[in-house]
Amino acid sequence: MIIPGANRRTVRFKLPHSSLYIVPSVIALVLLGFFVTIYFMNTRSHQTRNSMQQAFDGQERQLVDQITHKTSEIEQLQSDLIDLAQQADEFKVKLEEIKKLDHVIELMSQPENINGTSKKLSSSAPLKGSNLDVGGSDVPVTSQEVSSLVSDTKQGLFSLVDDINALLDHLTESEAKIKEANRIASITPTLWPIASHSITSGFGIRIDPFTFKPSMHTGYDLDGELNDPVYVTAAGKVIEVGYDDEHGNHIIVDHSRGIETEYMHLNKMLVKRGESVTKGQQIGLVGSTGRSTGSHLHYEVHKSGVPIDPKPYLITDRKDERK
Ligand SMILES: [Zn+2]
Repeated sequence: MIIPGANRRTVRFKLPHSSLYIVPSVIALVLLGFFVTIYFMNTRSHQTRNSMQQAFDGQERQLVDQITHKTSEIEQLQSDLIDLAQQADEFKVKLEEIKKLDHVIELMSQPENINGTSKKLSSSAPLKGSNLDVGGSDVPVTSQEVSSLVSDTKQGLFSLVDDINALLDHLTESEAKIKEANRIASITPTLWPIASHSITSGFGIRIDPFTFKPSMHTGYDLDGELNDPVYVTAAGKVIEVGYDDEHGNHIIVDHSRGIETEYMHLNKMLVKRGESVTKGQQIGLVGSTGRSTGSHLHYEVHKSGVPIDPKPYLITDRKDERK
């Protein structure tokens, strides 16, 4: 026992013998617990860092994949856009061809204006043709160039739609004109009424075969054989079917617009009064009835009730018009 201050009052502790082992053991255990805790915390933070790093790596890979995918999508869209622009150009070329055809149709619907000035559709600037020989260096396009191509293509397509609408209107107009032209053609006498083109007496003053005095001959005498078919020279309506001593069996057809045709000296008449006839329809047979010296057809064209020279109306054969 050591006593540092001998004058001071001594305090006595009585410790059991076993405390000499217990206290150091407790201290050692506390220290061990502390180090073990530090170790586990360290390990845990390392694991967390690793897992965070892995998650980050995974996200980065995903983003790179997404960017690659988007880039290829953009490239595909650009390539589609270029295709679309080329198709729009080809479409323009075709539209120009259709416009030319439309112009031809318009001319056909107005045969009298074939050398005149007819309205033309506005024609676009000359278009570049397709060029199969390609080459050159591969320069990537900028986003400005792509957006400019988008804008040009959009504008081009809008103007194509406008052109197509104008063309449709014009074609509808032409269709109506053609229908009208066909109607006029069908009601205008243009056929030879019989197969024979042999004219035995023309229009005008002649010596009458019965009186041998000058007289006015108001039609054409065509030299046909007995019972040769007689065809109506335009579509119309039969307004007279009859017989008299002068005209013999005769038919008058009204073609509207003030035009009538008359067929005389027929041997037989094959239509009735009031009947509608089509251009080139057989209406009778050649004969020599009435004031006639032999089988022939006397053919007349009347304009506003007055006989006129039929010559300008004898243009085509029936077989040419009915192919
Ligand atoms: Zn005659």
